[in-house]
Amino acid sequence: MQYLTKVLRGLTAGHDPVRLLHDALSGAIATSKGKHGIVVGLVEGAATTVAASGACPRVVQEAAEACMREGRLARRRDTASGGGAVAEPMRMGGRIIGAIAVGGDPVALDTSTLPLFADAASLALVRRPAMGRASVPEFSDALLRIAVELDHAAVLSRVFDEAEHLFGALGGFCLVPDGDGWKVSHYRGISAADLRSASQHSDFRGFVASDNLRVESPTHPVVAALSQGAETAISVPLVAAGQRQGFMVLLLGEGPDPTGQALLCAFANQVAMVLRCSDLAQRLRDHEQRLASVVHSAPGPVLVVDNNGRFILVNGAAAELFHLPEAFAVGQPVHGRLGNDALESLLTGEDEGQLELLLGSPPDRLYAASTRRMRASGGRDLGRVLVLEDVTKARETEKIKNDFVSVIGHELRTPLTVVKGYVRMLAKKKGEIDPASRDLALSALEANTIRLERLIEDLLFVSSIESNQPALDLQTVDLGDVLDEFASSRVTVQRTKMSISVRLDRAKFDQILNHLLDNAVKYTEGDVVIAVTDRGDDVEIAVDDSGPGIFSGDLPQLFERFRQLDGSSTRTQGGTGLGLYICRRLVELQGGRIWCESRLGVGSHFAFTMPKHGPTREITGPDRFANLQAPR
Ligand code: ADP
Repeated sequence: MQYLTKVLRGLTAGHDPVRLLHDALSGAIATSKGKHGIVVGLVEGAATTVAASGACPRVVQEAAEACMREGRLARRRDTASGGGAVAEPMRMGGRIIGAIAVGGDPVALDTSTLPLFADAASLALVRRPAMGRASVPEFSDALLRIAVELDHAAVLSRVFDEAEHLFGALGGFCLVPDGDGWKVSHYRGISAADLRSASQHSDFRGFVASDNLRVESPTHPVVAALSQGAETAISVPLVAAGQRQGFMVLLLGEGPDPTGQALLCAFANQVAMVLRCSDLAQRLRDHEQRLASVVHSAPGPVLVVDNNGRFILVNGAAAELFHLPEAFAVGQPVHGRLGNDALESLLTGEDEGQLELLLGSPPDRLYAASTRRMRASGGRDLGRVLVLEDVTKARETEKIKNDFVSVIGHELRTPLTVVKGYVRMLAKKKGEIDPASRDLALSALEANTIRLERLIEDLLFVSSIESNQPALDLQTVDLGDVLDEFASSRVTVQRTKMSISVRLDRAKFDQILNHLLDNAVKYTEGDVVIAVTDRGDDVEIAVDDSGPGIFSGDLPQLFERFRQLDGSSTRTQGGTGLGLYICRRLVELQGGRIWCESRLGVGSHFAFTMPKHGPTREITGPDRFANLQAPR
C-alpha cells in the first residue's frame, strides 16, 4: 500500500499532478501484477493518454475505452498475443473523467486494488493543468520564476519544472551551443540510454534543430526512442536577440492545440532570453574572477574602490598592510580605514596622482602609491585603483649609491690636490729647491699616489669579487715571524716563542692585517696590540685599540659593503667604508671568519681566524689581485 500512500501524501502536499498520475499508474501496475499501463483522461471530450508506463499493446487502450463506455471494470484479452488488460473508470462527482488500465498476463492480473488507484488518479487528473489552460497570472508567474535564476544549470532546472507545471511536460532536454556544435545541457524524464539512442538516429538532427516549433507524434522514430512510443514531442528553437541560444524538446501527454503551441513559443522565447542573460552573467562573473585573480596575485598592495569611495577589491598584501579583513572590507567606505589621510584622499579624490609615504605599524616602510581612474568605454567613472610599491630597498640603494659617489669623489680629490700642489711647487722652483723640501715633496707625492692606487684597487676588487672568486697563492708560513714584521713604534705584537705554522695566502693575509692596523692607528692615539692565539685547527689573530669604539647598533653592518660610508668617522678620518668588507671577503676566501667587539669610549677588538691547514676548498689559478697589497 506504500504506492497508494505515496500518491495520497503527494495529493495532500500539493505535488505536481503529472507526477502523481505517473505514481498512481506505477502503483496500479505493481499491485495488479501487470507489466504496463496507461491513464486516459477525457480532454475536451476526447480520450487522451495523460500518463503511460511506456509502449503499451493496443489491448490496454481497448480495455480503457471499454470501461469508460460501460462505466465499470473492463477486461480484455488479445487472442493473437495471449496478453490481456484490465481497466477501471475514473470518476469525479459521478461523472466518468477517464480510466486507468493495466496490461499483462490475463490470468495473473489482479483487479482488487485498481479502484483505489483509479480514485487517486481522478484526484490527480482534475488538478492536472490542461494544455493551454494555464491562467495568464500563472503563466507570467512561471516566466518570472525562470528569470530569477542567473546560473545556467539552475535556469534549465527551473525551465523543466515550469514546463511540467504549465504544459504537463513529462520530460525533455535542452541542447546548447558547444564550440562549433551542440551539447545536451539538461534532461529529465528520459533515461541517458534512451537519449543516446535517440541522438544516434539519422532523423534526430532534423527533428531537434528545426527553425520553428515542431510537433511529432509518438510514432516518429526519434520520439519513439525517447518515450518508447508513449508521448508526443515538441521541439522548439530558443532564439534571443536574433541569436540561437539552443533548442528545447518537451515530451507531452498530448499534442498541443494552437493556443498551447503559441504559449510554448512564448515560453521558449522567454527561456532563450533568460539563457542569454545567464550566459552574459557568466561571462561577467568570469571577467570579474579574472580581474580579481590579477589583483590578488599582485605581490604588492592593490586596492580598488568604486566611484562612491567604497572598496571593491582588496588584495592580500593590502589587507595585511592596512589590517583590513578582506571579505568584510568589500563594500565598506574607504574613509577612515587606511589610517592615512593623504592616501585616502589620493584614492577617493578627483585626480590621478602619485605619492611617497611611510606605512606599516610602526610606519617603517617607504611606499610609492599611485592611483588610476577606471573608466567604462562610454567614459563613465567606475572608480579608482591604487597600487602601492615598496620602494624602501630601492631608495636605500639609491642613497648608498649617491653617498658612495660623493665619498669616492672626495677620496680621489684629497690625494690629487696634494699631488697637484707639490707638482706645481716642484715645477715652479725648478732647480732652486733645497734638498729637504724636495725630499718632503717627493715622499708626499709617493704616499698620495699610493693612496690613489689603493683606492682604485679596492674599487676594482669590490666590483669583481661578486662575479669572480680570486685565486689563492697558498704557502706555509710561521705566523709568529709574519706578525713580527708588523711591529712598529705604535704596534706591539704579543706572541709565544713557539712557532705556529699556518698555510695561507701571504699577500691577502697582509692586506687584511694592514687594513685592521690602519684603522686601529687611525682611530686611536694610544698603542695598538696584535695578539695571536692557537685554537687547535685554527689560529686567531686579534687587533686591539683603545680608540673611541663603535656603536653596538652599527656592529651588525660593519663588514657589509658601503655600509659605513655616511658614518661620521668616515667623514672625519677619510676612507671609503670598503676596507672591512674587503677584509671579510679575504678572510672567508681562506676559510676563516672575522668579527668585532667594541665598547664606546673604551676601544675596539677586531679578530679573525685562519685554518692552519688552509681552506678546505683551494682556489687556484691566475689572480688579478695578487698585487693588491700596496706598500703603506
Ligand atoms: P674605511 O675605509 O672608511 O675606514 P672600513 O670598512 O675600514 O672603512 O671601516 C668602516 C667604518 O668602521 C669606519 O668608517 C669607522 O666608522 C668604523 N671603524 C673601523 N675600524 C675602527 C676602529 N678601529 N675604531 C673605531 N671605528 C672603526
